[in-house]
Amino acid sequence: MISAPPLKLDTTLFLRRVSAVSLYIHIPFCSSRCRYCDFYFETGWSPRVMGRTLDRIVAEARYFFEALGRPRIETVYFGGGTPSVIPPRTLDDFLDRLRRALGMEGCARGPTEWSFEMNPESVSPELLAVLRERGVSRLSLGVQSFQDPLLRFLTRRATCERVTEALELIARLPARSRFPHLNIDLIAGIPGQSEEMVGEDIDRALSYGPDHFSIYSLTVEERTPLAQMVARGHARPLPQESQESLWFAARDRLLARGFEHYEISNFALAGARSLHNAAYWRLDPYVGLGPGAVSTLPATTGTEGEERGLPARQHAARLTNPNLFIYSSLFDPSWSHAVELLSPRSLLIEHFLTGLRTGEGVSLRRIERVFGLNLPRLWAGPLGEWAAGGRIEAAALAEPVPRLVLSPSARLLLDPFLLEIDRLIDDLGPIRDARWPEAAEGEQSGMTAPA
Ligand code: SF4
Repeated sequence: MISAPPLKLDTTLFLRRVSAVSLYIHIPFCSSRCRYCDFYFETGWSPRVMGRTLDRIVAEARYFFEALGRPRIETVYFGGGTPSVIPPRTLDDFLDRLRRALGMEGCARGPTEWSFEMNPESVSPELLAVLRERGVSRLSLGVQSFQDPLLRFLTRRATCERVTEALELIARLPARSRFPHLNIDLIAGIPGQSEEMVGEDIDRALSYGPDHFSIYSLTVEERTPLAQMVARGHARPLPQESQESLWFAARDRLLARGFEHYEISNFALAGARSLHNAAYWRLDPYVGLGPGAVSTLPATTGTEGEERGLPARQHAARLTNPNLFIYSSLFDPSWSHAVELLSPRSLLIEHFLTGLRTGEGVSLRRIERVFGLNLPRLWAGPLGEWAAGGRIEAAALAEPVPRLVLSPSARLLLDPFLLEIDRLIDDLGPIRDARWPEAAEGEQSGMTAPA
């Protein structure tokens, strides 16, 4: 095993201790490229590069765990890329080392939720056994569709037959080896797709007993092969109206089957909401490990920072990891995170942006505690108008701990609402403080990131 050198942030940046944190682990390897995808991933890696990357993820995990004061690990999410391309034996060793790095030897101190994204072509009995043994509680399978022509259009690697095999393997696990939660990703709005096809996809998926769905609309992202095809006239995206009707067909089918639409793209049966996603939407602190991963953590600047004109009371930092080739490099082991200090205003806007997508909404008490803003008093007029117009849920606003929750229809028209919020925040004048994310006084670690 290669021991990674100490990670370097910024000599003027102090991390603060936190009592709990969520982890996102980015595994940037894919077997091939799906033409619509704009996530960060690499194809054509070698086992050596994969090994070095996993070693460094373990080292990063150990570093953050200590720097943040050995916090409770709330949730762990393996995303990508395609985490399931890691061969089962390598994965077993990696998960074992990772658990140790996070103070989780044995299962006594495991996270509440441990999620793992998989693509159908890499699902095998060996992989499932490793995941179960190492404490994974939620599988997320990228199905996208059960229709071969649509899978081919998306350049997905798995055929419908392979998708079905993977789902059967998961569904037929003996009771003692079952995973508590299964999410299925589907895409609506693919050229050539009809409402009947969407309904059929949902029914077929439901026959394998998932308790969670993520339904995405196909969007043409810049700099993807799909965008080039569209620009050259080789593909024609569906008109907006048809896209919407396909997505609504999927939503209605799931609502009729008892699923709750709890976030713009996410649907869950009772008790099956994703805890990891909820942590993002609440703007809880999280650590991103692996190439291209992003962390958002409480931090403050030291005296040297003040001399450089940085605000003295800055309480959130966003750290971005470099790409795979720098991250896993033996030749340049001295890379550092790109560090962005977030202003209280941008943190507040982000909190609305993420929280208002959800059925839980944004807690106004939390905003008061973190930003010192009493919004029910400052925004009494607009809040009353929104509630009277049915744009927000009046009942949530009247709860003892008031929440700003958009009505389901307003949630689908989020952008105009966010523009209004943005303007109202400007009217509040400068926001001096962000005591985020609830790091109590006296919790500052007093430790700079190692130079
Ligand atoms: S497998 Fe997932 S991450 Fe990889 S290219 Fe396809 S959509 Fe993107």
